[in-house]
Amino acid sequence: MTEIKCAFCKGKGKDPFDLLSEFATCQVCAGRGKVKIEEPVIKCVYCKGTGVYPHNGRVTCTVCNGKGSVTVKGPSEVCFKCKGAGVAIDSGFPCIECGGKGVKFKKAR
Ligand SMILES: [Zn+2]
Ligand SMILES: [Zn+2]
Ligand SMILES: [Zn+2]
Repeated sequence: MTEIKCAFCKGKGKDPFDLLSEFATCQVCAGRGKVKIEEPVIKCVYCKGTGVYPHNGRVTCTVCNGKGSVTVKGPSEVCFKCKGAGVAIDSGFPCIECGGKGVKFKKAR
């Protein structure tokens, strides 16, 4: 496990959108400004590392849960379906093949 700066609140620990009140704490890091994540991590391609869901700029990214980074274990390869973008071309939702990570676990052939 490693600790990274919370992408959703940019490490401030406050709700970036003031949904509840301007003193509301960030729901992703519970106000700590940092989040724990399992290594190895890559930047979340779906939200471009911002932690914000691209289609509704006030909620957390469903791929990385607002952390801005995702865990990719083992040998991985670029997803053939979204070509590494993490986005399904037809819907704009996270790619089903890779879960929005842009890479997927490489299967032994
Ligand atoms: Zn946060
Ligand atoms: Zn994300
Ligand atoms: Zn994909």
